[in-house]
Amino acid sequence: MKLSNTERKIIENSIRDIENFPKPGIVFKDITTLLNDKKAFGVLMNHLYHRYKKYDLEYIAGIDARGFIFGAALAQMLGIGFVPIRKKGKLPYTTIGEKYALEYGVDEIEVHIDAFGEQKGARVLLIDDLIATGGTANAAATLIEQAGAQCVESCFVIGLTFLDGIKKLQEKTDVYTIIEVD
Ligand code: AMP
Repeated sequence: MKLSNTERKIIENSIRDIENFPKPGIVFKDITTLLNDKKAFGVLMNHLYHRYKKYDLEYIAGIDARGFIFGAALAQMLGIGFVPIRKKGKLPYTTIGEKYALEYGVDEIEVHIDAFGEQKGARVLLIDDLIATGGTANAAATLIEQAGAQCVESCFVIGLTFLDGIKKLQEKTDVYTIIEVD
């Protein structure tokens, strides 16, 4: 089901721009105001539910931390499991990890080794609030494959199209963004 222009505007208008956070020159897209707005949150989740109910998904994997909010809500609506992909050192059981480059230095995310069940090839949707350089999402998609599952699509509420993150991630999985910022 396609999102109407009115629905897209409701979502877009609920996202707050915070200039120079966390550092000078960055415009931080604050989705707490979307979560706080029951109409906007409802329109978004309803749209995601109708889009993904036909995908025959087995799990939603959400990226630490805002991906947990949208991902867990959607998993519940679809009646499937949710898998958290976390920053290094947070998950208690055996993990596999993947490093990715930051502007300065590297970071690492992890997933539980058995997160996607015993059978290979589980159909997984990856979700986060925003894609910028795509470094985090690329590492997450790699982890999903390494854990024996398949990342059938990556979904972001916001895509920053002035960076080439979406293009890079498309080499690995289909990418769906709701609001594009250029
Ligand atoms: P990247 O790996 O560069 O695609 O960065 C994506 C991650 O950083 C996501 O988990 C986002 O929540 C966060 N992020 C990056 N840039 C922004 C931004 N301008 N506003 C809000 N979150 C951001």
